[in-house]
Amino acid sequence: MGLSSAYYLVKAGYEVTILEKGDLADNCSYGNAGMIVPSHFVPLAAPGMISQGIRWMFSSKSPFYVKPSLNPDLISWGIKFLKNANDKHVAYSAKPLTELSLLSKSLYKDLAQEPGFNFELTEKGILMFYKTEKAGEEESHLAEQGRQLGLDMEVLTVAQCKALQPNLELDVLGAVHYRSDAHLSPQVLMRALLKYLADNGVNIVRNHEVTKIESSASAIIAVYTGAQKWEADDYIIAGGSWSPSIAKLVNIKAPLMPGKGYSFMVEEPGKRMHIPALLAEARVAITPMNGSLRYGGTMELDKINSRVNMNRVKGIVESIPQYFPNLHPEVPAEKDIWFGFRPSSPDGLPYIGRNDKYENLILATGHGMMGLSLGMATGLLVREIIEEAKTTIDISAFSPNRF
Ligand SMILES: Cc1cc2nc3c(=O)[nH]c(=O)nc-3n(C[C@H](O)[C@H](O)[C@H](O)COP(=O)(O)OP(=O)(O)OC[C@H]3O[C@@H](n4cnc5c(N)ncnc54)[C@H](O)[C@@H]3O)c2cc1C
Repeated sequence: MGLSSAYYLVKAGYEVTILEKGDLADNCSYGNAGMIVPSHFVPLAAPGMISQGIRWMFSSKSPFYVKPSLNPDLISWGIKFLKNANDKHVAYSAKPLTELSLLSKSLYKDLAQEPGFNFELTEKGILMFYKTEKAGEEESHLAEQGRQLGLDMEVLTVAQCKALQPNLELDVLGAVHYRSDAHLSPQVLMRALLKYLADNGVNIVRNHEVTKIESSASAIIAVYTGAQKWEADDYIIAGGSWSPSIAKLVNIKAPLMPGKGYSFMVEEPGKRMHIPALLAEARVAITPMNGSLRYGGTMELDKINSRVNMNRVKGIVESIPQYFPNLHPEVPAEKDIWFGFRPSSPDGLPYIGRNDKYENLILATGHGMMGLSLGMATGLLVREIIEEAKTTIDISAFSPNRF
């Protein structure tokens, strides 16, 4: 969110400084599955998630886990999640999420035309495979809803799936082809953005954590990284899963929980799979990237920590041959497992907009499992908000002041 906002701002002639606590060699935006997903118009807060989530809690290899705890942030997040996990919220979210996704996809296509931005944007869609009648019915229903929103989603038979990737063995009942979706190589994109920003005069200040924010009653005056003071006309909080602690520095709320997920790469020179796959029941994502496959999954809601839960990684590994009998990834060594924290809002919608207390403070965070997908659109909207221009799409559903 920070880099895409800086991209659009510097292009419009603004002077931009990025304050980053790490070295920007890695963060949640690097090792993700790289999927651009207009198909994901149903937010995480959806009716089926509660009963399913409770069942998953009892398996150490399940794709979803909430660490039971008396952490007040988690309890407050959980209450908000429960309030939003209903059909009304799903119906309310579908249009704004689809508009945001489609805008982002078209901006990625524009970006891919620019010199230096060869981030392997590929428009083959995504195949959502299912093994059970129940998942098949749910996915077909979703495809119907998607078509009503203008998305290209088609239910395929096993034979049709086979025709698309003849060398990939299948043990599934069918798949939905999300043809409006795409994929890219996120780490290549991040490095290209960083290079563009550095070449175009953005001041990228690494290893400087924002630790204090000075404000008046209605505006931010300065931010501090330790003793160093930084002043600007406008300030953007784009701190991913750390955004709530940045927001707390000025006593505002950005309710988010970090949803930890894992990924790992396995070489696949045979390119048996060249269309990204989602596994409906196992909740695993597989993305072809430059001669390898990136396997990713799990959502652990807990405090930010650097523990790798090998059982959940094994859960990902064991699910693969259940769908694709000739794909047998090994359990990777712990050092080869990447993890990141999805900044997950309790209603599954991002926060994009001005804070209503501080007139020069903008939030661009909370994109959960869709932050790569929604990144470019968020960057453009941030610029439009700063310009006080009419935004390309209606952003009222993403108001950062809604909780
Ligand atoms: C396994 C996995 C698979 C995923 N797959 C997909 C996918 O296929 N498609 C998709 O759209 N999304 C996907 N996501 C989600 C996506 O990766 C995230 O939504 C996105 O990366 C979040 O971006 P961000 O800019 O908000 O946060 P980040 O990328 O985490 O960036 C936030 C930055 O803020 C910095 N920061 C924090 N606090 C401070 C501070 N106090 N001072 C200075 N700097 C600070 C951090 O160091 C960090 O660099 C996936 C996530 C995971 C974990």
